[in-house]
Amino acid sequence: MHVVNTQWNRTLTFKKHFFDEAQERYYVFIDPLFNTYTRLADAQVVRPVLSLARANGIAADRVYVMDASRQTTRISANVSGFLNTMRITLNDNLLKRCSLPEIEHVMAHETGHCVLNHIYKFLLLYIIAAVIGFAVFRRASAGLLGRFGTHWGVTSVGDVAVLPLFVILFSIGSFLMTPFHNTASRVQEMEADIFALNAAREPDGAAEVDLKLSNYRKMEPGPFEEWIFFDHPSGATRIRAAMRWKAENLVTAK
Ligand SMILES: [Zn+2]
Repeated sequence: MHVVNTQWNRTLTFKKHFFDEAQERYYVFIDPLFNTYTRLADAQVVRPVLSLARANGIAADRVYVMDASRQTTRISANVSGFLNTMRITLNDNLLKRCSLPEIEHVMAHETGHCVLNHIYKFLLLYIIAAVIGFAVFRRASAGLLGRFGTHWGVTSVGDVAVLPLFVILFSIGSFLMTPFHNTASRVQEMEADIFALNAAREPDGAAEVDLKLSNYRKMEPGPFEEWIFFDHPSGATRIRAAMRWKAENLVTAK
């Protein structure tokens, strides 16, 4: 695959979707420090990827590839940018390991996150959770200090010795919020999957990618396990969704 070296300005780039695959959040600000971004010139890949983007209102005119294989074998991609500086980046594992229908599905999934404004919805959710969280935090710390403060030798929340208590309360809070955070993420991931099935119309490509993701994600967890620990739908859930889409669209699907 022929790629052309290109320098790109990353300072104003705002990540559209950093709540997806955890590593993706580092793409725009951190990854460029360690990885090389090159412009993808393979028309067989570039043409359908840009066409998909344009069809869904993403103003991008080039596709970049990032040498993620230096650190990982994981396949991923992202659609990032701000206003009219949208950028599509595939990681090189995606190009090496996936067929065109699979690449199209992955790109459509990332486009879905962008078009459905997932990052803004997640930010709003975080702001609401933070306000509620701090209110609970304040009551809990005041209650505990009122009851055990003298015994602990901590006089008030202004005392620096209160920090360990804050760390414990914060850890408990984060732990209890895990299933809710994961569920919010999982719901968005399924929305992006459905968007991708409708946009790319490649249910078999979707299923193949889900199988490849099983390299590092358990395919078929129990429902309780999926609810608590999975920030993406399990492979089995995603493949069932793809096959359901295929069954319902069999006549018109490619
Ligand atoms: Zn996603």
